[in-house]
Order: sequence, then C-alpha cells, then structure tokens
Amino acid sequence: MNYSNVLRNLSKIACPFINNKFIVPSSSHISKTLINPATEESLIQVVDGISSDIDLAVKAATDALHSTSWKSLSGADRRNILLKIADGIDETSEELAWIESLNVGKPLRDAKLEVAQSAECFRFFAGYADKLAGHTPCVDNNYRLYTTREPVGVCGLITSFNYPLLLASWKLAPSLACGNAIILKPAPQTPLTTLMLANIISFETILPPGIISVIPGDDVVGKSITNHEGIDKCSFTGSVQVGRKVLSASSSSNLKRVTLELGGKNSMIVFSDADIDKAVEDVYWASFSNSGQNCCAGSRLFLEKNIHDEFIDKLRKRIEKTKIGNPLDETVDFGPLIDQTQFQNIQKIFNNKIIGNKLLIGGKRFGDVGYFIEPTVFYDLDDFEYISQEEIFGPVLSILKPFNTIEEVIERANNTKFGLTAGIWTYNYLKAEKVIREIKVGTAWVNCYNLTPPCLPFGGNKLSGFGKELGDESINEFSFIKSVIFSL
Ligand code: NAD
Repeated sequence: MNYSNVLRNLSKIACPFINNKFIVPSSSHISKTLINPATEESLIQVVDGISSDIDLAVKAATDALHSTSWKSLSGADRRNILLKIADGIDETSEELAWIESLNVGKPLRDAKLEVAQSAECFRFFAGYADKLAGHTPCVDNNYRLYTTREPVGVCGLITSFNYPLLLASWKLAPSLACGNAIILKPAPQTPLTTLMLANIISFETILPPGIISVIPGDDVVGKSITNHEGIDKCSFTGSVQVGRKVLSASSSSNLKRVTLELGGKNSMIVFSDADIDKAVEDVYWASFSNSGQNCCAGSRLFLEKNIHDEFIDKLRKRIEKTKIGNPLDETVDFGPLIDQTQFQNIQKIFNNKIIGNKLLIGGKRFGDVGYFIEPTVFYDLDDFEYISQEEIFGPVLSILKPFNTIEEVIERANNTKFGLTAGIWTYNYLKAEKVIREIKVGTAWVNCYNLTPPCLPFGGNKLSGFGKELGDESINEFSFIKSVIFSL
C-alpha cells in the first residue's frame, strides 16, 4: 500500500458528504487541521460541516425517503446493499485500519480488528433487512389485528471519538436495514474512517441521493442535528454531559426519539477460586486496551482478600511488559491518548498528592513526544474517592480495598452512578450467577471481557444511558411499530 497516496486521496474527501457527493466547500466552511496523537504533527485538513449542511441533508433525506427509487427497494435489495458495504469495507480494510490507527492513535492490530468487526456488523444486519416482521395476534374473529414495522424516518447518528468506524457501523447498519435515511456526524477528532465509509458506500451501492449523509464537525453540527425539527430520531454515543444536552434538545424541539450510549465506570470482581493468571491477563486488557479510552474499560477492580497481594504483584509484572510506542508498529500494545486536552486532564489527576501515595505503577508521561501516558494503577482506594467513582477515560485502573464476602462486593460494585458493564472471574457457577442477577449493568462478562458479538444487545443502565445497540433490540430502536385493527 502506498501510504502517501492513501492520505492524498483522503484529503479529497475530508469534507461533508451530502446527496451522494462530497461537497465543494463554500466561503462559510472552515477547515481544521487534525493532529497525529503519536507525533503531535499535522495529519490532514478536514472541512467541517455547518448548520446549513444539516438543513440540506435533512431536506435530501426527507425527499429520498419519499422517492420511488427508495420506496420500491425490497428488504432483499437493502440486504444486498448492506452486504456490498461489508464487501467494500473488506476490500479497503488495509487502508481503513491504517487510517484508524493514525487518526485515533490506536495500535494497528486493534484497528484491524475494529475494521473486521465493522464489516461483520453490516453482514449481521443485512440478515435482518429481508426478515423484518410485524405481529398478528389471533384473538378476535371479527377483526384482523396486526402490526407493521416501518422505518422511523430521518435518523441523526452522533458518535464518539474512540471507535469511530465500529460505532458508526453499529448505528448505520441496523438503521439502513430498517429503511431509514441517515445523517451521521463523527467526532471532531476522528472523522476520517467514517468519511472513507461514505466513499465506500457511494462507490459500492446505488443509494438514492440523501439516504446517507456524513457531516464532520463539532458541537455546532451536533446541536443542529439534535435541535432539528425534521430529524425523527437521534442515536447518540458519547459522554453523560453531552447526553443530557441531547435529551434536552429533543425535549425542547420535536421530541425526537433518543438513544443514549454514555460513559461507564465498570467494576471487575475477581474471586479467589478464579484462574488468577488468566484473570490478570483479562484485567490488563480490560483496563488498558485503546489506552483505556473505552466506555467498557474495566476501571474499578475488586479483589477477594486472600488473593489481593498475589494478584497485584502479577498485574504489576504484566504491565511492566507493555510495549508502548508508535501505534503503526504491529507489535505495539499501547498507543497515545487522543489529544492534548485528554492528556492534560489525566496528568492533573496524577498531580493529586493524596492518591499519589497509592500509586502501584505508571502515573506519568511516556517519552517526550505524543500524548502517551503510561498504564497506571492506584490501589487500596476507598470506594467513594474521585478515581473510584468518575470515568477517567484513560489508562488508569483503580483497585479498591479488598472484599471478604459476595454480598459485600455486590453492594460495593453497585455503588456507582454508572451501569454499563461488569467483569466477574470465578469458576463457581452459583457465585457468578448471583452477581449477574444482582449487578445493575447492561452487559456482564464472566471469565472474559470486552466481547460485543452483534447478536447481543449492548447498552447501559443508570447514567450509562438507555436504549440498545446491536441485536434484535437495535432493530426495535430503528423501526416504528404501527397497529392495525381491520374490521372483517
Ligand atoms: P463527547 O460527549 O464529548 O462527544 C460525543 C459526540 O457528541 C461528538 O461527536 C461531539 O462532537 C458531539 N457533541 C458535542 N457536544 C454536542 C452537543 N451539544 N450536541 C450534540 N452533539 C454534541 O464524547 P467523546 O469524548 O467523543 O467520547 C467519550 C465518551 O463517550 C465517554 O464518556 C465514553 O464512555 C462514551 N462512550 C460510550 C459508548 C457506549 O456505547 N456506551 C461508546 C463509546 C464511548
């Protein structure tokens, strides 16, 4: 692959995609420079969208939904479109992974996995497009009672910076399978692979203009989506703080449906009967994959008292083996944080003298170029300290004081305002089952972590949000059920 050609071609499409084409920027458009987080050098110029682009995209989406060219497509036709997108992702996988790695600072190995999972997501939802169904209760001979499943309409999809291609796919694939029109806004830091996806879609498929628009930009573009009266649904992934604004914008505009996939402060519980070496390896990746910039990151660890010291010792030794460095090097485990803001936020935590005494490992910058922070662990923390409760969104693991009983650890693990995921390590089936039943999270992993197969719904409880991505539930999120009562 000729990398400079990939970047040169990308710079031609680093702008809003509306009506099946990348726009020619007007004098009102502003371009900004993206920075490579590993080198702090300029990477590429991107032209951000403006509010009038959203108006244009909504008009195009509404016209497309009413067009015969879209309405006449069957579920099987949409299935084939989704399959073609998946093939297009596979055919471009090397370029996509390279750009994802460069833009996010994600190790290339992980970026390749993300690209493969994105293609798989389109294939999974392709299977729904030709099987969408209503329901026919057979309870009254005087009436035919049934439901039909219709598209919701124009869907505004807003994603966060950390898994740009995968999160776009999680939203776009079911939304398209259900026959909606889509306006997708990637995060301002990482729009590149989403724009490449728009390019793949325009090449690989014959979609009526307006069915998919991709508008890069910041909160101004985000607000234009969430406040828009012509948008019927907003599926949002991001922070709790912005999630609240999304909900409030819906409330003060057209009450558009809202799905919120928000932050997490995810508990991991290791019981003394677990396979300790395996649990150490799982906890290591749970905490530090994508440099901890993962909504599912395991960031509060509870260890049973009699394995506490052994576990901590083994975890420290595992962390010492981390290969940190240029994310494009396939042997690297751990890249930089996304940007200077996030880099500085985490350094501020390290300056706190009180928790400084509880540092096990890390707690400082790695190297002197790029936004690298060493994988960091604090231990012996109280349950309600700042770093035991708040989402840090970086490579910082909090080990809380050890636990003695299962009842105690369930109560302590639930003592958080978030409820996204949890990890449990034990070979005692009854213990695992008790925790699964009582822990208030959307996803519980037992003796594993971070697996999100597309057949299982994913989404949070409490401040981690509401609504689901993936699985059957995602089809429900992107379709509208109409009831019909037909007198016979
Ligand atoms: P963020 O909330 O800062 O931004 C998310 C998106 O919202 C971006 O596209 C941003 O431009 C847009 N935005 C900002 N202000 C807006 C506004 N007023 N109206 C509409 N859109 C607006 O989040 P981030 O820093 O990109 O991502 C990190 C957060 O995302 C973390 O809290 C993480 O846990 C969460 N996240 C959750 C999931 C999940 O599935 N639950 C997945 C990934 C990330």
